[in-house]
Amino acid sequence: MRVGVPKEIKTHEYRVGLTPGAVREYTARGHLVLVETGAGSGIGASDEDYLAAGATIAETAAEIFAASDMIVKVKEPQRSEWSQLREGQLLFTYLHLAPDPEQTRGLLESGCTAVAYETVTDERGGLPLLAPMSEVAGRLSIEAAGAALKCYNGGRGLLLGGVPGVPAARVIVIGGGVVGTHAARMAVGLGAEVTLIDRSIPRLRELDQLFGGRVRTRFSTLETIEQEIASADAVIGAVLVPGAAAPRLVTRAMLSRMKRGAVLVDVAIDQGGCFETSRPTTHDMPTFEVDGVIHYCVANMPGAVPLTSSHALNNATLPFGLALAEGGRGALVRDPHLMAGLNIDGGKVRNRQVAESLGLPF
Ligand code: NAD
Repeated sequence: MRVGVPKEIKTHEYRVGLTPGAVREYTARGHLVLVETGAGSGIGASDEDYLAAGATIAETAAEIFAASDMIVKVKEPQRSEWSQLREGQLLFTYLHLAPDPEQTRGLLESGCTAVAYETVTDERGGLPLLAPMSEVAGRLSIEAAGAALKCYNGGRGLLLGGVPGVPAARVIVIGGGVVGTHAARMAVGLGAEVTLIDRSIPRLRELDQLFGGRVRTRFSTLETIEQEIASADAVIGAVLVPGAAAPRLVTRAMLSRMKRGAVLVDVAIDQGGCFETSRPTTHDMPTFEVDGVIHYCVANMPGAVPLTSSHALNNATLPFGLALAEGGRGALVRDPHLMAGLNIDGGKVRNRQVAESLGLPF
C-alpha cells in the first residue's frame, strides 16, 4: 500500500504520524511510504532519517494526499486537509468528531474511510491508542496547573507541594481513568493533597489500592463536585464517555464558590470540555480567566512534548497501522477492535456515540 505522512499543520503541533522507526517497519513489509519534507523536524528527525528508513520524500502535502492509499496523521484533519481526501482513501488519525460537526461534514463529503485512534478498543475494554497521549496529557496537566498557579500567570501564587509548615495545594482530579491517574501520580509526586473523583466504584477501588491511601477518592455526584471544588487550588477535568461529548460537570455558577486565582485544567476539552466555561486554547495562549478562575484548555497538550509523544503514539498505533496497510478495509472486518475505530465510511457516520452526539443517522 502507498502510505502518506503529511506534516502536521495545527497550531503548535510538532508530532508526526510515523517516526522513522515506524516507517522502517512499513517499508520492511513492502509498503511505499511518502513523507512530506520536514514532517519530522519537530522531533529532530530529518528527511535523511526518513530516507534511511526507506521513505520517499514529497515536497508538498498535496502530493501526499494525491498519491496515497492511506494517510497517517496525528491531529484531526484541518479544512485544507479534509478537502484533499477522496473516496476510498483511508485516514488513520485522531478525529474527535463528537464536538466537531464541521469536520464531520467535511469527512462525510470527502467519501473517505476514517479510522479514529481514540475509539479503537482492546480486549480489556480500554482505548489503546488514546492511552499513550492520555498518559502524557495527564502528567502535563499538573505541570500546567503548577505554571498557572504562579502569580505572574494570574494564579494564587501557590507552590503545589507547599513547604514544611505551609500546606500543599489541594488538587481535585475529576475522572480517574488514564489522564486522571497520571495527573494524580504527578501531583502526589510533587507533594500536593490529591482527591480523585470518578463515577465508577470499581475504578475508585483500584485507585485506592494503587495509591495506597495517598489520595482521597470520592464518588462523582454534583454535590461531591460542588463541595470539592470550593476548596480546590487546582481542578483537573479528565472525564471521558467514549465517543460522546464530555459531560459538563462544573457550571459557571459553581465558579463563584471557588477561590480567586484557582486553576481549572480541562484536559477533556478535545471532547468539548467538562467545565461550562471552557473553550479550546492553544499553546500560544493557553489560559484565560473567567470569574477570577484561571482556565487552561489546550486541546493538543501532548503536542508540547512531541518527542515523547510521537514515540509513545507510534508504539501504540504501529500494529494497527500495519494491519490497515496490509489488509486495507478488510483489516477492519478481521479485527473488531480496529472496527471500533471506524468513524466515517462511504459518506456515513459509523460510530454510534459520534452519530448520537451530532444528531446524525447511524
Ligand atoms: P478514560 O476512559 O481512561 O477515563 C475517563 C474516566 O472518566 C473514567 O474512569 C470514567 O469512569 C470517568 N468518568 C466518566 N464520566 C464521569 C463523571 N460524570 N464523573 C466522574 N468521572 C467520570 O479516559 P482518558 O484516557 O483518561 O481521557 C480523558 C479525557 O482526556 C478524554 O476526553 C480524552 O480525549 C482527553 N485527552 C485530552 C488530551 C488533550 O491534549 N487535551 C490528551 C489526551 C486525552
